[in-house]
Amino acid sequence: MNIKQKINLSDFTTFGIGGEAKFFCVVSSVEEAVEVIAYAKQNNLKIFVLGGGSNVLVSEAGFDGLVIKNEIKGFKQDGVSVTFGCGENWDDVVQKTISLGLQGIECLSGIPGTSGGAVVQNIGAYGQTISDVIESAEVIKIETNQIQILQKNECEFAYRNSLFKKNLGKYLVTSATLNLRQSDEGEISFHSLQKYFIHKGVPTLTETRKAVIDTRASKGMVIMPGFVSYKSAGSFFKNPVISQTAFDKLKPLISCPDPWFWVQKESVKLSAACLVTQAGFEKGYVLDRAQISPKQPLAIINPGSATSSDIKNLAQKVKQAVLGKFGVELEEEIVYI
Ligand SMILES: Cc1cc2nc3c(=O)[nH]c(=O)nc-3n(C[C@H](O)[C@H](O)[C@H](O)COP(=O)(O)OP(=O)(O)OC[C@H]3O[C@@H](n4cnc5c(N)ncnc54)[C@H](O)[C@@H]3O)c2cc1C
Repeated sequence: MNIKQKINLSDFTTFGIGGEAKFFCVVSSVEEAVEVIAYAKQNNLKIFVLGGGSNVLVSEAGFDGLVIKNEIKGFKQDGVSVTFGCGENWDDVVQKTISLGLQGIECLSGIPGTSGGAVVQNIGAYGQTISDVIESAEVIKIETNQIQILQKNECEFAYRNSLFKKNLGKYLVTSATLNLRQSDEGEISFHSLQKYFIHKGVPTLTETRKAVIDTRASKGMVIMPGFVSYKSAGSFFKNPVISQTAFDKLKPLISCPDPWFWVQKESVKLSAACLVTQAGFEKGYVLDRAQISPKQPLAIINPGSATSSDIKNLAQKVKQAVLGKFGVELEEEIVYI
């Protein structure tokens, strides 16, 4: 156990922003994690579990407790099931499943961060969501420092949400098992992928992965060598879900390219990017040292020297404008520390 002190968290987040963690420890095995959690409990330290830092905004005040950086690795296949350590880089897991001819997460290619962050945030993109294929997750319940296996229905997955996100600091997700399908055909239910492959037949998993990464790159949403990227946490806000009645009133006020809404069972999901733009925040908009991404209206970026307050102020301004103009409350997808 190597517990360090006063570690600058800006080096561990994709925003490149944040103050110090009072204590900081990297864990590479479940045993190490149990040991560190026991130490934190003995010393009355609050715990924050960090993955790749790609969905967090850390304040300048930092974290007055112990940050546990999860680097628990491992990957194994059993038929169409794969189990991976939650410290694995998520995109490496995607790549491995594709090379095994397993379908189910190819559209989640190119999302930064760890596999643990992917489970906690219930990541989704281009028509796929990790909770569609998750079977179970192994966790350490921090309160008791006991290892538990939770089945999918116990993980309380919802849109960019989970039991673990609702209870930050209460669970460390150590590994997860996905149930995939043996197939070399990529899933292209999402409109932009259908457009990409129009007249080209059914794509392979590898072709689908490439299409997803190309599309993400055109929006500056890939952090990989050879691509232009920004310091951000990806989409700052979730796509809001409103009632059909509220939507009927809102519809005449909006003119965005289709599709900017998706009708669900008893509600309508709106494109937050559309609302942000229609509220007056075009790509590239600048407020103090924070900016809306020049390529994607839903990403707030740190162009160089932004503080967490700069980012938060811009987010607040966007939220107020969208609420004022359309009566819709945007909710953060990112996590504030
Ligand atoms: C350019 C860019 C593009 C993105 N595109 C997408 C996208 O298309 N779809 C999407 O859904 N997201 C997207 N994201 C957001 C982000 O990449 C994902 O949410 C990612 O899964 C977060 O993983 P992480 O390891 O970086 O988590 P972190 O940012 O480190 O943590 C996020 C939250 O998860 C918790 N956490 C992390 N690991 C664990 C663990 N093992 N146990 C318990 N809690 C844990 C943290 O405490 C924190 O609350 C994007 C981000 C960026 C920067």
